[in-house]
Amino acid sequence: MDCEPLHLVLVSTPIGALGSGRGGGVELTLASLVRGLLGRGHQLTLVAPEGSRSPQPSPSLHLETVGGVDQPSWQHAEHQAPVTIPADGLLPRLWDRALALAGEADAVLNFSYDWLPLWLTPRVQQPLFHLVSMVSVAQVMDQQIADLARWDQRRLAFHTQAQANDFALPAPARLVGNGFDLGAYSFQARADGPLGWAGRVAPEKGLEDAAAVAAALGETLLVWGVREDEDYAQRVEAGVPAGTIEWRGFLPTKALQQQLGQCRALINTPKWNEAYGNVVVEALACGVPVVAYNRGGPGELVQHGRTGLLVTPDDVDALRGATVEVASLERRHCRAWVEANASQEVFAQRVEAWIRDGLVARDGSIA
Ligand code: UDP
Repeated sequence: MDCEPLHLVLVSTPIGALGSGRGGGVELTLASLVRGLLGRGHQLTLVAPEGSRSPQPSPSLHLETVGGVDQPSWQHAEHQAPVTIPADGLLPRLWDRALALAGEADAVLNFSYDWLPLWLTPRVQQPLFHLVSMVSVAQVMDQQIADLARWDQRRLAFHTQAQANDFALPAPARLVGNGFDLGAYSFQARADGPLGWAGRVAPEKGLEDAAAVAAALGETLLVWGVREDEDYAQRVEAGVPAGTIEWRGFLPTKALQQQLGQCRALINTPKWNEAYGNVVVEALACGVPVVAYNRGGPGELVQHGRTGLLVTPDDVDALRGATVEVASLERRHCRAWVEANASQEVFAQRVEAWIRDGLVARDGSIA
């Protein structure tokens, strides 16, 4: 490395311990980044909820855990919802610890989609950076992101352009994509397997449309992920012939990629402006082409006609047609795209470049 290694404090999401799956895609993002940054020689302190597992045993990684009550997720919040912090809240405790540790560090990197760390940023000495993990959900968060961007947009990065477009930013957004430990995903060449779907089982993920496609084709749909909304899961199941959905549960990456890699296609059906779409890239890493709605992150991740097919959002007929066609794509192209664009190494490089740029002293021109 040309530059001095950095000492970074990474602050995890205040929803669920790392390894629980409750933090959604952020858990995997954080783990990949930890490994990627360690690989680049940096010193890391990870502040995470009690019960969290260290993503990587290393003398250069110190894990600090903090107890407290989980933060309610913004994911299903109303547009006008206020900021809520429960008694004994984990979020302020994580930040209390992170700010104390930051005195020794070059920068603090936030992974939580929350108001408090954004609000703190212009008010503390320590340089705080935010990898924004979701799209616009509530006005109070939009305002805070816009305010911070006006103060110094270099402190914000986003996964995709589609995600960044949701926010009022004075300058072009810093995009860092995402990264994956490619050693953990094996390429599987066979293209005659079942159809798959993966993600939190919740309305914004649109499982019902993938189930409808499987039903129309008279096939089984394998489904992996946390049943976050149980009523919704039951409604989706009741909407298709019995046996259409085969629930595989929430699996650790090793087992998930092994099963996912056997699929002939992953069907990805976001009903919201998905910020990124980890499962899309995980499927591609195994050689599985993706049929997705052209909406949000997946619309930028899938190369139409090469690594998958993109169809008009919410058009279930088009989704069905594309699901039939997609198996003819060359599975090696899927893996090659991930190796070039979404390895944990390239992700860590992009994040490091972002932080180094943001640490350069300003002349105060961005007020
Ligand atoms: N996932 C998993 N095991 C499963 C199903 C899903 O580990 O059985 C993980 C998957 O690897 C991904 C995350 O759940 O990292 C879902 O992230 P995504 O970005 O697709 O959606 P989010 O939940 O963040 O909205």
